[in-house]
Amino acid sequence: MPKLNERLSHWDALNGCYCGRWQKSPSAGHLYERSGDGKFSRIFASAEGISSCEVCGYDLTRDPLENLKALPAKAWSGALVKGSCFYSETVWQLPDGITDCEFVGCNLDNVDLPAHAKGITLTDCTRKRIINQNDRTDWVCDWKTGAPIEPIDLKRRLREGENTDPAKLPAEKLTDEELKALEQKRTDERELAEAQEKVATLTAKLEAVK
Ligand SMILES: [Zn+2]
Repeated sequence: MPKLNERLSHWDALNGCYCGRWQKSPSAGHLYERSGDGKFSRIFASAEGISSCEVCGYDLTRDPLENLKALPAKAWSGALVKGSCFYSETVWQLPDGITDCEFVGCNLDNVDLPAHAKGITLTDCTRKRIINQNDRTDWVCDWKTGAPIEPIDLKRRLREGENTDPAKLPAEKLTDEELKALEQKRTDERELAEAQEKVATLTAKLEAVK
């Protein structure tokens, strides 16, 4: 069994066991066993006798986030954690009392640091507060106030002329219908712009031949 220090590295923390043999699908209750050579064979959690990973001992009956929260401070202490993803939609906090733990190249978005942490070092990590807003998309927010700052896909939105201003977020959560209508509107606008461009090109072409 790998040491905890090693287990925590290169770990898809919210989707798999420490050794990567078992993966959990986002829809609750589905576990996949990695049978080797990159393939997944699908096995349901209800399959007989599967309660923990036979290689790393990970508890497969619990939610990955629950397993993560259950790790004691001493598990993290003295660890060098590389390239793992600890992002969860809901904020969770590393336990109090961690000493000397370095995260390198990890995704710690929505991971809160304990008030009593000595020597938690973040190197090349991301640790943003991300909250789904009334427009039903994820925005980077202020850690203290929770106020939205910018959408997580800022560059794409700027390129496509979509809203990047937190002040223009809808006052109430968009319904599925409203969301669908909005997406349709964007598609229509894009198609209209393409059609107008074509009209302009054809018009210029025709005018060139008198
Ligand atoms: Zn495992």
